[in-house]
Amino acid sequence: MSIVEVLQALLPAGAVLTGSEALQAYEMDWRGRYRGHAACAVLPATTAEVAAVVQACRQHGVPVVAQGGNTSLCEGAVPRAGGPGSVVVNLQRLRRVRSVDVANHSIEVEAGCVLAAVQQAAAQHGLLYPVSLGAEGSCQIGGNIATNAGGTGVLRWGNTRENVLGLEVVLPDGRVWDGLYRLRKNNTGLDLKHLFIGSEGTLGIVTAAVLRLHPLPTAQAVAWFATPSPSAAIELLGRFQQRCGGVLAAYEMMNDIELGHVLDHVPGHRAPVDRTHPWHVLVELSDSGPEAPLVDALEELLSAAGERGDVLDAVIAASGAQRAAFWAIRHGVSDGNKAAGMGINTDCAVPVSAVPAFIERATQAALAIEPEARIVIVAHLGDGNVHFIPMVSRERWQGYADADALSHRVKHAVNEVSHALGGTFSAEHGIGQVLTEEMHLFKPAVELELMRAVKSAIDPQDLFNPGRLLPAPTAPR
Ligand SMILES: Cc1cc2nc3c(=O)[nH]c(=O)nc-3n(C[C@H](O)[C@H](O)[C@H](O)COP(=O)(O)OP(=O)(O)OC[C@H]3O[C@@H](n4cnc5c(N)ncnc54)[C@H](O)[C@@H]3O)c2cc1C
Repeated sequence: MSIVEVLQALLPAGAVLTGSEALQAYEMDWRGRYRGHAACAVLPATTAEVAAVVQACRQHGVPVVAQGGNTSLCEGAVPRAGGPGSVVVNLQRLRRVRSVDVANHSIEVEAGCVLAAVQQAAAQHGLLYPVSLGAEGSCQIGGNIATNAGGTGVLRWGNTRENVLGLEVVLPDGRVWDGLYRLRKNNTGLDLKHLFIGSEGTLGIVTAAVLRLHPLPTAQAVAWFATPSPSAAIELLGRFQQRCGGVLAAYEMMNDIELGHVLDHVPGHRAPVDRTHPWHVLVELSDSGPEAPLVDALEELLSAAGERGDVLDAVIAASGAQRAAFWAIRHGVSDGNKAAGMGINTDCAVPVSAVPAFIERATQAALAIEPEARIVIVAHLGDGNVHFIPMVSRERWQGYADADALSHRVKHAVNEVSHALGGTFSAEHGIGQVLTEEMHLFKPAVELELMRAVKSAIDPQDLFNPGRLLPAPTAPR
């Protein structure tokens, strides 16, 4: 029997998808630039079904690709091209909120729960699940955990890693690890959940998680301001941190080109301030007390910065709707860029103090290779995470003799700059299929050896997401 027939016998009708049309959404990456090949996609509805699928794949030696919302920006969740094809295990049917422990500030959810649904389930109990990103309406908790997703709340609440208390994982041999602890303290040896967080489906399939919740803030104040330079924005960030401490919830920056992409290509947005200012920052304060002190702090800091020349123009949101409108611009950047042309996306993080140097040197490096690129920048500035995106028109892209090679050269040049400044080439999106070579070039050999040792201990047949995350051991350094 073929693997497809075996899986059809194991799972209920409709849970095994085959054929090019049915598979398109599971084989194609979010940007629509890459299509791999799957033998089939399966939609298990329980942890036991996931384990049965994995056991069958193991017996047949067939690779397994875990897939959540398929919003990976580094081709992490789609199968590789060619060959007999992998089995894509999409978790969308494992989407129950199993329980909310209000006193413990925790929620247990299945891996296929969409991030926004988890946020809403927590909010119904007056609690906050603080991980927030542009894809939150479609990415899943399992995908967030597998990529250690960051987003706009990291400055205050940390990455996904800091918000996971426990995990349930189907291992490559088909066993289920029940690590659904709800504890904030547990010093009983290695904390194994951390192996799976950020492992991009190479060590196991996350089927459920216990997440850490926080009191839902009752007051928010959001401002949008224009600033002359990244250095001025960082100067003001320091003042916000000193004056507001833990109340500072987000500090996001974009350049005028990025703002223009959202305004021009995503319907329904208006510029909060004159769009021609070179740099724009969205700042949010949130707290459990009243709103007035937050607004006072914004007014005080922005007006003092205006006198120094660090703020060129500013608007404090006057209503919940206006706050949402400012955030919608920030969350619209990926759609805006997708519509505006062809972007060479990077995901670097450097120490916050090095952001201005990074932007300046990366711009020089990218323009030296593609002088016609327009440099789009959107940054989680409070974390030092800069998405530096050289973009060209579709026509120019199509005219390249080898677009992949050019894109690769540009990315590499930008990543080199980050590395030289003590930064990383992957801050929050992960490695997927597109950055394995950078792993090879920039990660210390000892780190790679340790990662390989873990991989071969847990997945000796190399069946889980082969070719992702880790470069082939034989690749030249
Ligand atoms: C518009 C937009 C905005 C974005 N903004 C951000 C941002 O601000 N911050 C950020 O960090 N990312 C961002 N991303 C990237 C992406 O949304 C995140 O990486 C997200 O965590 C992926 O979740 P997913 O469910 O879509 O996972 P997928 O794309 O389906 O998978 C991602 C990786 O996780 C693995 N995986 C998926 N589910 C499981 C599971 N249950 N068990 C084991 N492995 C699994 C896959 O094999 C793959 O390697 C953005 C993407 C888009 C399209």
